[in-house]
Amino acid sequence: MDKENENGRSGRNVPGRFSVEAKKCIDCDLCRDIAPEFFARDDDGYSKIVKQPTSTDEVETFVEAMDSCPVSAIVDNGE
Ligand code: SF4
Repeated sequence: MDKENENGRSGRNVPGRFSVEAKKCIDCDLCRDIAPEFFARDDDGYSKIVKQPTSTDEVETFVEAMDSCPVSAIVDNGE
């Protein structure tokens, strides 16, 4: 079972290496501000991943956003 299913919000995130655990998200907007191409706000007011990073530069930007999340809601599930 993947992280999305574990938190009961299957299908919110685009499948892949990274995911947002919606239960933890406090809708602070930080990830969406730092890396808007990868994150969006869903109808429930939680962030979700709309694009997985692929290139080294993309991963770097994504990880910057992930590390900035104050509640560690963005997780790396491994490649
Ligand atoms: S930085 Fe974390 S808490 Fe803030 S909107 Fe993004 S996922 Fe949610």
